Amino acid sequence: MKIVIVGGGWSGAAAALAAQKKGADVTLIERTDMLLGTGLVGGIMRNNGRFTAAEEMIAMSGGEIFQLIDGNRLHKDMTFPGHHHSSLYNVATMEPIIKRALLAKGIRLHLSTRVTDVEMAGGRIKSVISKKKGEDETSFEGDVFVDCTGTAGGPANCNKYGNGCAMCVLRCHSFGGRVSVAAKAGVKEMIGRKGTQVGAMSGACKLFKESLSSEICDTLNKTGVAVIPIPQSKRIKGKLAIKACQQYALTDFEENVVLLNTGHAKLMSPFFPLEALREIPGFENARYEDPYAGGLGNSIRYIGMAPRDNALKVEGVENLFCAGEKAGLLVGHTEAICTGALAGYNAVKHARREKTLVLPESLAVGDAIQYVRTQMQTEAGLGLKYTFSGSVYFERMKERGLYLTDVKTIEERVDQAGLTGVFAA
Ligand SMILES: Cc1cc2nc3c(=O)[nH]c(=O)nc-3n(C[C@H](O)[C@H](O)[C@H](O)COP(=O)(O)OP(=O)(O)OC[C@H]3O[C@@H](n4cnc5c(N)ncnc54)[C@H](O)[C@@H]3O)c2cc1C
Repeated sequence: MKIVIVGGGWSGAAAALAAQKKGADVTLIERTDMLLGTGLVGGIMRNNGRFTAAEEMIAMSGGEIFQLIDGNRLHKDMTFPGHHHSSLYNVATMEPIIKRALLAKGIRLHLSTRVTDVEMAGGRIKSVISKKKGEDETSFEGDVFVDCTGTAGGPANCNKYGNGCAMCVLRCHSFGGRVSVAAKAGVKEMIGRKGTQVGAMSGACKLFKESLSSEICDTLNKTGVAVIPIPQSKRIKGKLAIKACQQYALTDFEENVVLLNTGHAKLMSPFFPLEALREIPGFENARYEDPYAGGLGNSIRYIGMAPRDNALKVEGVENLFCAGEKAGLLVGHTEAICTGALAGYNAVKHARREKTLVLPESLAVGDAIQYVRTQMQTEAGLGLKYTFSGSVYFERMKERGLYLTDVKTIEERVDQAGLTGVFAA
Protein backbone atom coordinates (compact mmCIF):
# COMPACT_ATOMS: atom_id res chain seq x y z
CA MET A 1 0.00 0.00 0.00
CA LYS A 2 1.76 3.12 -1.26
CA ILE A 3 0.79 6.57 -0.02
CA VAL A 4 2.42 9.53 -1.75
CA ILE A 5 2.31 12.89 0.02
CA VAL A 6 3.20 16.04 -1.86
CA GLY A 7 4.38 19.02 0.20
CA GLY A 8 6.54 18.73 3.32
CA GLY A 9 5.07 21.53 5.46
CA TRP A 10 3.53 20.73 8.85
CA SER A 11 0.50 19.09 7.21
CA GLY A 12 2.64 16.87 4.97
CA ALA A 13 4.89 15.84 7.86
CA ALA A 14 1.87 14.93 10.01
CA ALA A 15 0.20 13.05 7.14
CA ALA A 16 3.38 11.06 6.53
CA LEU A 17 3.70 10.00 10.18
CA ALA A 18 0.01 9.06 10.47
CA ALA A 19 0.05 6.97 7.27
CA GLN A 20 3.29 5.24 8.23
CA LYS A 21 1.85 4.37 11.63
CA LYS A 22 -1.03 2.57 9.92
CA GLY A 23 1.41 0.39 8.00
CA ALA A 24 1.73 2.21 4.65
CA ASP A 25 4.83 2.60 2.52
CA VAL A 26 5.08 6.40 2.60
CA THR A 27 6.80 8.76 0.17
CA LEU A 28 6.97 12.47 1.01
CA ILE A 29 7.95 14.87 -1.78
CA GLU A 30 9.07 18.41 -0.98
CA ARG A 31 9.93 21.16 -3.48
CA THR A 32 12.67 22.87 -1.38
CA ASP A 33 15.69 21.54 0.49
CA MET A 34 13.95 21.76 3.89
CA LEU A 35 10.76 20.46 5.44
CA LEU A 36 8.16 22.56 7.34
CA GLY A 37 7.27 25.07 4.59
CA THR A 38 5.87 28.19 6.23
CA GLY A 39 6.49 26.46 9.57
CA LEU A 40 10.16 27.37 9.11
CA VAL A 41 9.26 30.89 10.18
CA GLY A 42 6.27 30.55 12.51
CA GLY A 43 6.65 29.18 16.00
CA ILE A 44 3.52 30.08 17.97
CA MET A 45 1.75 27.05 19.41
CA ARG A 46 -0.91 26.27 22.00
CA ASN A 47 -2.29 29.83 22.11
CA ASN A 48 -5.98 29.91 23.08
CA GLY A 49 -7.95 27.04 21.48
CA ARG A 50 -4.85 25.53 19.87
CA PHE A 51 -4.09 24.06 23.28
CA THR A 52 -7.35 22.08 23.18
CA ALA A 53 -6.80 20.89 19.60
CA ALA A 54 -3.25 19.71 20.34
CA GLU A 55 -4.38 17.80 23.44
CA GLU A 56 -7.30 16.21 21.56
CA MET A 57 -4.83 14.88 18.99
CA ILE A 58 -2.50 13.57 21.73
CA ALA A 59 -5.46 11.79 23.38
CA MET A 60 -6.26 10.19 20.00
CA SER A 61 -2.57 9.07 19.69
CA GLY A 62 -2.10 11.39 16.73
CA GLY A 63 -0.02 13.97 18.55
CA GLU A 64 3.63 12.94 18.34
CA ILE A 65 4.49 16.04 16.33
CA PHE A 66 3.09 18.23 19.11
CA GLN A 67 5.28 16.35 21.56
CA LEU A 68 8.36 16.89 19.36
CA ILE A 69 7.51 20.60 19.16
CA ASP A 70 6.98 20.82 22.93
CA GLY A 71 10.46 19.32 23.32
CA ASN A 72 11.93 22.17 21.25
CA ARG A 73 10.16 25.17 22.74
CA LEU A 74 11.90 28.30 23.97
CA HIS A 75 8.98 29.55 26.06
CA LYS A 76 5.80 28.06 27.43
CA ASP A 77 2.63 29.23 29.21
CA MET A 78 3.23 32.81 28.09
CA THR A 79 0.76 35.57 27.39
CA PHE A 80 0.86 38.23 24.70
CA PRO A 81 -1.98 40.57 23.63
CA GLY A 82 -5.18 38.49 23.26
CA HIS A 83 -3.34 35.15 23.58
CA HIS A 84 -2.93 32.87 26.57
CA HIS A 85 -0.95 29.75 27.55
CA SER A 86 1.12 30.09 24.35
CA SER A 87 4.39 28.41 23.61
CA LEU A 88 7.06 29.29 21.07
CA TYR A 89 9.24 26.75 19.29
CA ASN A 90 12.75 27.50 18.13
CA VAL A 91 12.37 28.01 14.38
CA ALA A 92 16.13 27.66 13.87
CA THR A 93 16.31 24.08 15.13
CA MET A 94 12.84 22.62 14.48
CA GLU A 95 13.27 21.34 10.92
CA PRO A 96 16.13 18.87 11.46
CA ILE A 97 14.26 17.38 14.43
CA ILE A 98 11.23 16.61 12.27
CA LYS A 99 13.33 15.42 9.36
CA ARG A 100 15.19 12.94 11.57
CA ALA A 101 11.91 11.74 13.13
CA LEU A 102 10.42 11.00 9.70
CA LEU A 103 13.56 9.25 8.45
CA ALA A 104 13.71 7.14 11.61
CA LYS A 105 10.23 5.84 10.76
CA GLY A 106 11.37 4.75 7.30
CA ILE A 107 9.46 7.48 5.44
CA ARG A 108 11.03 8.06 2.01
CA LEU A 109 11.88 11.74 1.77
CA HIS A 110 12.51 13.41 -1.57
CA LEU A 111 13.70 16.96 -1.01
CA SER A 112 14.42 19.56 -3.73
CA THR A 113 11.88 17.63 -5.80
CA ARG A 114 9.01 19.60 -7.25
CA VAL A 115 5.86 17.88 -8.47
CA THR A 116 4.91 19.48 -11.76
CA ASP A 117 2.13 17.27 -13.07
CA VAL A 118 -0.03 14.20 -12.51
CA GLU A 119 -0.80 11.19 -14.63
CA MET A 120 -4.47 10.25 -14.46
CA ALA A 121 -6.17 6.93 -15.16
CA GLY A 122 -9.94 7.40 -15.19
CA GLY A 123 -10.88 9.49 -12.17
CA ARG A 124 -7.75 8.40 -10.27
CA ILE A 125 -4.21 9.70 -10.00
CA LYS A 126 -1.83 7.02 -11.22
CA SER A 127 1.37 8.92 -10.50
CA VAL A 128 2.78 12.36 -9.82
CA ILE A 129 5.54 13.61 -12.06
CA SER A 130 8.37 15.52 -10.50
CA LYS A 131 11.52 17.35 -11.44
CA LYS A 132 14.74 17.70 -9.50
CA LYS A 133 17.29 20.27 -10.75
CA GLY A 134 19.83 18.70 -13.10
CA GLU A 135 17.98 15.38 -13.23
CA ASP A 136 15.42 13.84 -15.59
CA GLU A 137 11.73 13.82 -14.70
CA THR A 138 10.73 11.08 -12.25
CA SER A 139 7.28 9.70 -11.58
CA PHE A 140 6.01 8.37 -8.27
CA GLU A 141 3.17 5.87 -8.44
CA GLY A 142 0.84 5.42 -5.48
CA ASP A 143 -2.44 3.91 -4.35
CA VAL A 144 -3.55 7.10 -2.63
CA PHE A 145 -2.11 10.64 -2.74
CA VAL A 146 -2.30 13.50 -0.25
CA ASP A 147 -2.05 17.11 -1.46
CA CYS A 148 -0.24 19.12 1.23
CA THR A 149 1.16 21.79 -1.08
CA GLY A 150 -0.28 24.71 0.89
CA THR A 151 -1.51 27.95 -0.61
CA ALA A 152 1.50 30.27 -0.33
CA GLY A 153 3.00 32.00 -3.38
CA GLY A 154 4.29 31.61 -6.05
CA PRO A 155 5.74 34.92 -7.09
CA ALA A 156 3.03 35.58 -9.70
CA ASN A 157 0.39 35.62 -6.95
CA CYS A 158 2.56 37.73 -4.62
CA ASN A 159 3.09 40.20 -7.48
CA LYS A 160 -0.54 40.29 -8.54
CA TYR A 161 -2.30 40.29 -5.16
CA GLY A 162 0.39 41.59 -2.78
CA ASN A 163 3.33 43.99 -2.79
CA GLY A 164 5.54 41.74 -4.94
CA CYS A 165 7.92 38.96 -3.96
CA ALA A 166 9.41 39.84 -0.57
CA MET A 167 11.92 36.95 -0.76
CA CYS A 168 10.50 34.69 1.93
CA VAL A 169 11.68 31.34 3.20
CA LEU A 170 9.74 29.51 0.47
CA ARG A 171 12.41 30.60 -2.03
CA CYS A 172 10.23 30.15 -5.12
CA HIS A 173 12.81 31.71 -7.44
CA SER A 174 15.34 29.05 -6.49
CA PHE A 175 13.15 25.94 -6.23
CA GLY A 176 10.20 26.84 -8.47
CA GLY A 177 6.81 27.99 -7.20
CA ARG A 178 4.05 25.96 -5.58
CA VAL A 179 2.16 23.55 -7.85
CA SER A 180 -1.16 22.14 -6.69
CA VAL A 181 -1.75 18.41 -7.18
CA ALA A 182 -5.52 18.86 -6.98
CA ALA A 183 -5.50 21.53 -9.71
CA LYS A 184 -3.30 19.36 -11.92
CA ALA A 185 -5.82 16.54 -11.43
CA GLY A 186 -8.50 18.83 -12.88
CA VAL A 187 -10.12 20.04 -9.65
CA LYS A 188 -11.53 23.58 -9.70
CA GLU A 189 -10.05 25.14 -6.60
CA MET A 190 -11.48 27.82 -4.33
CA ILE A 191 -9.96 31.23 -3.76
CA GLY A 192 -10.14 33.18 -0.50
CA ARG A 193 -11.19 36.77 -1.08
CA LYS A 194 -12.47 39.70 0.92
CA GLY A 195 -13.81 42.62 -1.09
CA THR A 196 -11.13 43.44 -3.64
CA GLN A 197 -8.35 41.58 -1.80
CA VAL A 198 -7.64 38.17 -3.36
CA GLY A 199 -5.96 35.81 -0.90
CA ALA A 200 -4.40 37.29 2.22
CA MET A 201 -0.96 38.48 3.21
CA SER A 202 1.08 36.52 5.75
CA GLY A 203 0.92 38.33 9.04
CA ALA A 204 4.40 38.15 10.56
CA CYS A 205 8.07 38.78 9.78
CA LYS A 206 11.30 37.95 11.57
CA LEU A 207 14.01 40.38 12.56
CA PHE A 208 17.58 39.46 13.43
CA LYS A 209 17.53 39.60 17.22
CA GLU A 210 21.16 40.74 17.12
CA SER A 211 20.13 43.89 15.25
CA LEU A 212 17.88 45.07 18.14
CA SER A 213 18.92 46.89 21.33
CA SER A 214 20.26 44.80 24.20
CA GLU A 215 17.25 45.86 26.35
CA ILE A 216 14.79 44.43 23.82
CA CYS A 217 16.87 41.26 23.41
CA ASP A 218 17.04 40.73 27.18
CA THR A 219 13.28 41.13 27.55
CA LEU A 220 12.67 38.72 24.67
CA ASN A 221 15.08 36.12 25.99
CA LYS A 222 13.66 36.31 29.51
CA THR A 223 9.94 36.55 28.85
CA GLY A 224 9.45 35.56 25.21
CA VAL A 225 7.61 38.77 24.41
CA ALA A 226 8.36 42.49 24.02
CA VAL A 227 5.66 45.11 23.39
CA ILE A 228 7.05 48.47 22.26
CA PRO A 229 4.64 51.37 21.59
CA ILE A 230 4.77 52.85 18.07
CA PRO A 231 4.62 56.67 18.02
CA GLN A 232 1.25 57.79 16.56
CA SER A 233 2.86 59.24 13.41
CA LYS A 234 4.58 55.95 12.53
CA ARG A 235 1.53 53.69 12.77
CA ILE A 236 0.45 52.11 9.51
CA LYS A 237 -3.31 52.05 9.15
CA GLY A 238 -5.13 49.26 7.32
CA LYS A 239 -2.42 46.60 7.76
CA LEU A 240 -4.63 44.50 10.02
CA ALA A 241 -7.36 43.96 7.42
CA ILE A 242 -5.08 42.24 4.90
CA LYS A 243 -3.55 39.83 7.40
CA ALA A 244 -4.00 36.10 6.88
CA CYS A 245 -4.03 35.62 10.66
CA GLN A 246 -7.11 37.48 11.83
CA GLN A 247 -6.46 36.29 15.38
CA TYR A 248 -3.82 39.04 15.58
CA ALA A 249 -5.96 41.74 13.94
CA LEU A 250 -6.29 43.57 17.25
CA THR A 251 -5.45 47.23 17.74
CA ASP A 252 -2.68 46.23 20.20
CA PHE A 253 -0.81 44.96 17.15
CA GLU A 254 -1.32 48.25 15.25
CA GLU A 255 -0.34 50.52 18.14
CA ASN A 256 2.70 48.53 19.27
CA VAL A 257 5.54 46.57 17.80
CA VAL A 258 4.84 43.14 19.27
CA LEU A 259 7.88 40.87 19.18
CA LEU A 260 8.03 37.19 20.14
CA ASN A 261 11.17 35.17 20.73
CA THR A 262 11.18 32.26 18.29
CA GLY A 263 14.98 32.18 18.06
CA HIS A 264 14.79 35.32 15.96
CA ALA A 265 12.49 38.22 16.88
CA LYS A 266 9.10 37.47 15.36
CA LEU A 267 7.51 40.80 14.39
CA MET A 268 3.72 40.48 14.48
CA SER A 269 3.05 42.58 11.41
CA PRO A 270 2.71 41.57 7.72
CA PHE A 271 5.39 44.16 6.87
CA PHE A 272 6.83 47.34 8.35
CA PRO A 273 8.83 49.89 6.30
CA LEU A 274 12.42 49.59 7.47
CA GLU A 275 13.11 53.31 7.68
CA ALA A 276 10.03 53.87 9.87
CA LEU A 277 10.93 50.87 12.06
CA ARG A 278 14.45 52.21 12.58
CA GLU A 279 13.05 55.44 13.99
CA ILE A 280 11.57 53.56 16.97
CA PRO A 281 13.95 53.49 19.96
CA GLY A 282 15.73 50.14 20.14
CA PHE A 283 15.24 49.42 16.44
CA GLU A 284 17.89 51.82 15.03
CA ASN A 285 19.86 48.93 13.45
CA ALA A 286 16.96 46.58 12.74
CA ARG A 287 17.16 44.28 9.73
CA TYR A 288 14.94 41.56 8.36
CA GLU A 289 15.67 37.85 8.48
CA ASP A 290 12.40 36.77 6.81
CA PRO A 291 11.12 37.83 4.41
CA TYR A 292 14.29 39.67 3.39
CA ALA A 293 12.14 42.50 2.02
CA GLY A 294 9.81 42.54 5.05
CA GLY A 295 9.88 46.33 4.83
CA LEU A 296 7.81 46.06 1.67
CA GLY A 297 5.49 43.10 1.91
CA ASN A 298 5.00 39.42 2.61
CA SER A 299 3.78 36.24 0.92
CA ILE A 300 0.22 35.91 -0.34
CA ARG A 301 -1.71 32.84 0.79
CA TYR A 302 -5.16 31.22 0.49
CA ILE A 303 -5.30 31.00 -3.27
CA GLY A 304 -6.06 27.47 -4.44
CA MET A 305 -7.92 25.45 -1.81
CA ALA A 306 -9.40 22.10 -2.74
CA PRO A 307 -13.10 21.28 -2.31
CA ARG A 308 -13.15 18.28 0.05
CA ASP A 309 -15.42 16.29 2.31
CA ASN A 310 -15.14 16.01 6.09
CA ALA A 311 -12.83 12.99 5.81
CA LEU A 312 -10.56 15.36 3.81
CA LYS A 313 -11.01 13.50 0.50
CA VAL A 314 -10.80 15.87 -2.44
CA GLU A 315 -14.04 15.98 -4.39
CA GLY A 316 -13.77 14.77 -7.97
CA VAL A 317 -10.64 12.63 -7.64
CA GLU A 318 -11.09 9.08 -6.45
CA ASN A 319 -7.78 8.68 -4.59
CA LEU A 320 -6.74 12.15 -3.44
CA PHE A 321 -6.88 13.59 0.09
CA CYS A 322 -5.72 17.03 1.23
CA ALA A 323 -4.64 18.76 4.43
CA GLY A 324 -3.39 22.02 5.89
CA GLU A 325 -4.17 25.21 4.01
CA LYS A 326 -5.00 23.15 0.93
CA ALA A 327 -8.00 21.82 2.90
CA GLY A 328 -9.45 25.29 3.48
CA LEU A 329 -9.09 28.64 5.15
CA LEU A 330 -7.45 27.13 8.21
CA VAL A 331 -4.55 29.17 9.54
CA GLY A 332 -1.76 27.70 11.60
CA HIS A 333 0.71 24.96 12.35
CA THR A 334 -1.67 23.27 14.79
CA GLU A 335 -4.46 23.33 12.22
CA ALA A 336 -2.09 21.87 9.57
CA ILE A 337 -0.88 19.11 11.89
CA CYS A 338 -4.42 18.08 12.94
CA THR A 339 -5.73 17.91 9.35
CA GLY A 340 -2.48 16.31 8.17
CA ALA A 341 -2.78 13.46 10.67
CA LEU A 342 -6.43 12.86 9.70
CA ALA A 343 -5.67 12.95 5.96
CA GLY A 344 -2.73 10.54 6.31
CA TYR A 345 -4.83 8.15 8.40
CA ASN A 346 -7.78 8.31 6.00
CA ALA A 347 -5.52 7.82 2.97
CA VAL A 348 -4.61 4.41 4.40
CA LYS A 349 -8.23 3.58 5.28
CA HIS A 350 -9.25 4.48 1.73
CA ALA A 351 -6.48 2.35 0.21
CA ARG A 352 -7.74 -0.58 2.29
CA ARG A 353 -11.31 0.14 1.20
CA GLU A 354 -12.28 0.69 4.84
CA LYS A 355 -14.62 3.40 6.09
CA THR A 356 -12.80 6.70 6.49
CA LEU A 357 -12.95 8.65 9.75
CA VAL A 358 -14.92 11.87 10.20
CA LEU A 359 -14.09 13.45 13.55
CA PRO A 360 -17.27 14.45 15.43
CA GLU A 361 -18.46 17.97 16.19
CA SER A 362 -18.07 17.21 19.90
CA LEU A 363 -14.32 17.68 19.41
CA ALA A 364 -12.79 21.01 18.41
CA VAL A 365 -10.78 19.42 15.60
CA GLY A 366 -13.85 17.70 14.11
CA ASP A 367 -16.04 20.76 14.50
CA ALA A 368 -13.46 23.03 12.84
CA ILE A 369 -13.04 20.74 9.83
CA GLN A 370 -16.80 20.54 9.31
CA TYR A 371 -17.49 24.22 10.04
CA VAL A 372 -14.83 25.55 7.68
CA ARG A 373 -16.13 23.35 4.87
CA THR A 374 -19.65 24.77 5.29
CA GLN A 375 -18.43 28.34 5.64
CA MET A 376 -16.41 28.12 2.46
CA GLN A 377 -19.55 27.56 0.49
CA THR A 378 -20.64 31.14 1.19
CA GLU A 379 -19.23 34.42 -0.16
CA ALA A 380 -18.95 35.84 3.37
CA GLY A 381 -17.25 32.70 4.65
CA LEU A 382 -14.61 32.87 1.92
CA GLY A 383 -13.63 36.31 3.25
CA LEU A 384 -12.71 34.97 6.70
CA LYS A 385 -9.91 32.85 8.13
CA TYR A 386 -10.37 30.16 10.76
CA THR A 387 -8.07 29.15 13.59
CA PHE A 388 -8.39 27.64 17.03
CA SER A 389 -6.37 30.58 18.33
CA GLY A 390 -8.72 33.50 17.78
CA SER A 391 -11.22 35.40 15.68
CA VAL A 392 -14.47 33.74 14.56
CA TYR A 393 -13.59 30.12 15.14
CA PHE A 394 -12.23 30.61 18.67
CA GLU A 395 -15.46 32.48 19.51
CA ARG A 396 -17.42 29.49 18.22
CA MET A 397 -15.30 27.13 20.32
CA LYS A 398 -16.13 29.12 23.44
CA GLU A 399 -19.85 29.32 22.62
CA ARG A 400 -20.06 25.56 22.05
CA GLY A 401 -18.05 24.62 25.14
CA LEU A 402 -15.24 23.19 23.01
CA TYR A 403 -12.49 25.36 24.49
CA LEU A 404 -10.98 23.34 27.32
CA THR A 405 -7.64 23.76 29.03
CA ASP A 406 -7.78 20.89 31.48
CA VAL A 407 -6.02 17.91 29.89
CA LYS A 408 -8.03 15.34 31.86
CA THR A 409 -11.32 16.86 30.69
CA ILE A 410 -10.07 16.85 27.09
CA GLU A 411 -9.13 13.17 27.41
CA GLU A 412 -12.60 12.41 28.77
CA ARG A 413 -14.23 14.27 25.86
CA VAL A 414 -12.17 12.20 23.40
CA ASP A 415 -13.06 9.03 25.27
CA GLN A 416 -16.79 9.86 25.22
CA ALA A 417 -16.47 10.14 21.43
CA GLY A 418 -14.99 6.62 21.40
CA LEU A 419 -11.77 7.89 19.85
CA THR A 420 -9.08 7.36 22.48
CA GLY A 421 -5.99 6.09 20.68
CA VAL A 422 -7.73 5.92 17.29
CA PHE A 423 -4.57 7.01 15.43
CA ALA A 424 -2.33 4.52 17.25
CA ALA A 425 -0.25 2.00 15.30
C1 LIG B 1 5.42 34.28 7.96
C2 LIG B 1 4.47 33.30 8.56
C3 LIG B 1 4.40 33.15 9.94
C4 LIG B 1 3.52 32.24 10.51
N1 LIG B 1 3.50 32.08 11.87
C5 LIG B 1 2.72 31.13 12.42
C6 LIG B 1 2.81 30.85 13.82
O1 LIG B 1 3.60 31.43 14.53
N2 LIG B 1 1.97 29.89 14.33
C7 LIG B 1 1.10 29.21 13.55
O2 LIG B 1 0.37 28.35 14.06
N3 LIG B 1 1.00 29.46 12.22
C8 LIG B 1 1.81 30.38 11.63
N4 LIG B 1 1.75 30.61 10.29
C9 LIG B 1 0.78 29.85 9.47
C10 LIG B 1 1.24 28.42 9.27
O3 LIG B 1 2.63 28.41 9.00
C11 LIG B 1 0.51 27.72 8.14
O4 LIG B 1 -0.88 27.95 8.17
C12 LIG B 1 0.73 26.20 8.18
O5 LIG B 1 2.00 25.86 8.67
C13 LIG B 1 0.51 25.69 6.77
O6 LIG B 1 1.01 24.38 6.63
P1 LIG B 1 0.78 23.59 5.27
O7 LIG B 1 1.48 22.30 5.44
O8 LIG B 1 -0.65 23.57 4.91
O9 LIG B 1 1.45 24.48 4.10
P2 LIG B 1 2.90 25.09 3.88
O10 LIG B 1 3.58 25.43 5.13
O11 LIG B 1 2.72 26.16 2.86
O12 LIG B 1 3.70 23.88 3.22
C14 LIG B 1 3.48 23.46 1.91
C15 LIG B 1 4.74 22.77 1.42
O13 LIG B 1 4.47 22.23 0.13
C16 LIG B 1 5.61 22.43 -0.69
N5 LIG B 1 5.18 22.37 -2.07
C17 LIG B 1 4.32 23.21 -2.72
N6 LIG B 1 4.15 22.80 -3.99
C18 LIG B 1 4.89 21.67 -4.13
C19 LIG B 1 5.11 20.80 -5.22
N7 LIG B 1 4.51 20.99 -6.39
N8 LIG B 1 5.94 19.73 -5.06
C20 LIG B 1 6.53 19.51 -3.83
N9 LIG B 1 6.35 20.32 -2.78
C21 LIG B 1 5.53 21.39 -2.92
C22 LIG B 1 6.13 23.78 -0.24
O14 LIG B 1 7.48 23.94 -0.59
C23 LIG B 1 5.91 23.73 1.27
O15 LIG B 1 7.03 23.19 1.95
C24 LIG B 1 2.67 31.48 9.68
C25 LIG B 1 2.72 31.61 8.29
C26 LIG B 1 3.64 32.50 7.73
C27 LIG B 1 3.74 32.59 6.23
